[in-house]
Amino acid sequence: MKIQFLGGAQTVTGSQYLVTVNDHKILLECGLFQGRRSETYEKNLNFEFDPADVDAVLLSHAHIDHSGNLPNLHKNGFKKHIYATAATVDLCQLMLRDSGYLHEKDVEWINKNRASKHEEPIEPLYTIEDAEAALRLFVGVQYHRPIEVAPGVTATFNDAGHILGSASIVLDLKEGRKTRRLGFSGDVGRKDMPIIRDPEPPTDLDALIMESTYGDREHADDSGALDELADVVLRTIKKGGKLIIPAFAVGRTQRLVYSLHELRKKSRIPKIPVFVDSPMACNATDVYRSHPECFDREAYFRFVRDTEDVFTPPGFTCVRKAAASKKLNFLTDPHIIVAASGMAEGGRILHHLKNNLEDERNTLLFVGFAAEHTLARRIMDGEKEVKVFGEKYNVECDVVTMPYFSAHGDRDDLIEFLTGTPPKTLKKVFLVHGEKSQQFALKERIEEKGYKQVRVPARLDSFSL
Ligand SMILES: [Zn+2]
Repeated sequence: MKIQFLGGAQTVTGSQYLVTVNDHKILLECGLFQGRRSETYEKNLNFEFDPADVDAVLLSHAHIDHSGNLPNLHKNGFKKHIYATAATVDLCQLMLRDSGYLHEKDVEWINKNRASKHEEPIEPLYTIEDAEAALRLFVGVQYHRPIEVAPGVTATFNDAGHILGSASIVLDLKEGRKTRRLGFSGDVGRKDMPIIRDPEPPTDLDALIMESTYGDREHADDSGALDELADVVLRTIKKGGKLIIPAFAVGRTQRLVYSLHELRKKSRIPKIPVFVDSPMACNATDVYRSHPECFDREAYFRFVRDTEDVFTPPGFTCVRKAAASKKLNFLTDPHIIVAASGMAEGGRILHHLKNNLEDERNTLLFVGFAAEHTLARRIMDGEKEVKVFGEKYNVECDVVTMPYFSAHGDRDDLIEFLTGTPPKTLKKVFLVHGEKSQQFALKERIEEKGYKQVRVPARLDSFSL
């Protein structure tokens, strides 16, 4: 039995781990490497193994850094099953198609440039059609129901509490007389997040592959989130402005809607209109509706038993058509717009920034992390003049950043996840999906708890189990 780390090793993108048992190969995740195009294109294009030799893929959740290279895996010869929870399958239907579309668009633009220099056109990493072919390999599984995915390999999906359908996976491995229980955390969420359930720490593990995105951070207590959100809304209304919130389409948007609905219901904010201006977010919301088996008790009772529409409540509008989105520019009374993308690197949020940045009555609210060099990050960092669609705009509106709504657990959440199995049993811990500084700080913490072999594997490192 062995495990090889092929991506998401000392970095946060391109998650990919290959487990070999009885000469059968099981791939955990097949994420997209993201970053500078010149560095990632080749990495995504080529696999370190022959995809035709892989017996099964296990996918923890739908985020592109975990699922986004599956179409390419299929294109290169993988023809077996991809196991994921039913909600993850449905979210991947949206996200992989969208990713194929973006790859096609990206290359269209590059090829126009190349043609002007009489260079050969390049192929997209994959197309919508490739994504659709990979989607036909998906098999939906239920939480807590063990399933044999290859001879000697049984997988059980448990709730990871990160986004709808997210799972951590326990692998029971048998090779000759040797048995091992290997845990894979996927992305670990946080306790008490609305809508979805809490993470379930796995037990009785011999080895664990655990994410470490926030291995050295403590999140702000989310209990202040509603108060601050109410404050921002009230301040914006007082000024007679609009509240613009860039947000990721899957997870963050649904959570914001849930919280805004909560505030309106308790009459803590007036009933001003709220628009979710993103076809992807609207479609993802529909996936949420069709998977109440993933909800926590509160969301389940409100949505299913009490038929309360917590996802698009009265006063909330899903905006799918571009023409309807453009009409929002002409609204003059205070209102709230939630639009993708969260880092303001594309999507309809750019139109709203262009139209609203220069009006001091408006508020721009950031509710999540934004990577360096993104437009969101530049505005968060206080730049007073930014470019949108190539034109300069002054940032005159209020800019507010709230440290809440993270879907990733912090250091304490990760430690709690790991300590589901005591050091006596859990012999090997591999930290993945994190920047090095976060990983080594977390490694130290874990060692302080008595766990001995804690490793931070580099790409292509391999270990026996
Ligand atoms: Zn994730």
